[in-house]
Amino acid sequence: MKIIRSLAELRETLSVRDKVRSLVPTMGYLHEGHASLIRDARRESEQVCVNIFVNPLQFNNARDFETYPVSEDHDRAICEEAGADIVFVPTASEMLGAGPALQMAMPALTKNLCGPFRPGHFEGVLLIVAKLFHLFLPHKAYFGKKDYQQFRVIQRMVEDLSFPIDIIGCETIREADGLAMSSRNKNLKPEHREQAALMIRGFRIAEKAFNNGNANPADLAEIAQDVMLTGPDNRVEYTQVVDPETLEVLQEIEGDFVIAAAMHCGEVRLIDNLLIRGG
Ligand code: AMP
Repeated sequence: MKIIRSLAELRETLSVRDKVRSLVPTMGYLHEGHASLIRDARRESEQVCVNIFVNPLQFNNARDFETYPVSEDHDRAICEEAGADIVFVPTASEMLGAGPALQMAMPALTKNLCGPFRPGHFEGVLLIVAKLFHLFLPHKAYFGKKDYQQFRVIQRMVEDLSFPIDIIGCETIREADGLAMSSRNKNLKPEHREQAALMIRGFRIAEKAFNNGNANPADLAEIAQDVMLTGPDNRVEYTQVVDPETLEVLQEIEGDFVIAAAMHCGEVRLIDNLLIRGG
């Protein structure tokens, strides 16, 4: 496994595109969720590239950026074990120079869910991922559906700009109690850990209500949110029932749908979602 830090070396290493190449973009502090993406890439391609970069452009909150966990040795071991060939770990100045003049935005897919609560976030994601696609020239790129809105935004960017890249959405890897694995879980206080799992518990109770005949999207969101709020240190930012493609908030359920939420558990902001089969 090769570790690369400069754009020049990355370009040179990747100049020959004779193998099916995959890219797994991450912000590091890797866990089993990231490892599952790398393993999927290993199975489905010949050259597996992992990018580790805490992208300052996508943080709308300085404290969140400053407290974002970093652990390069641990990340390297996970990449190696999961089968990566190339790990790119650039500094911010290597990656961004003095900062981009370009702006990218996707209003249609960012007006709901995290969009209004994280101004500038998806713009930062779009710009960095577009840049990574140009740098790596991958045939496939792997994204977790835990960040469902991000997955859809990237999928749509690739469609709109005709990037010749397959975007592969991977299932969310969870702890035993259902909590979605996340680098931010490290910052949860021990007394908040159980309350964090109330988000997925709420989604599953809403799913049960749907399967028992309640097809009112607003009711389902409220059922899930009420479960989350049984945690005294939980503060819910939003709970929404949306169309899996357009991310529009549903007034009626006619097929599959996604229930998604963002919740502050103590100081830590967590997101998760569940795709529920409607038919
Ligand atoms: P991050 O480092 O949090 O930016 O995540 C990098 C990639 O890993 C993104 O595509 C995430 O959606 C994905 N990811 C993060 N957590 C999980 C998880 N628990 N299960 C599956 N994929 C995940």
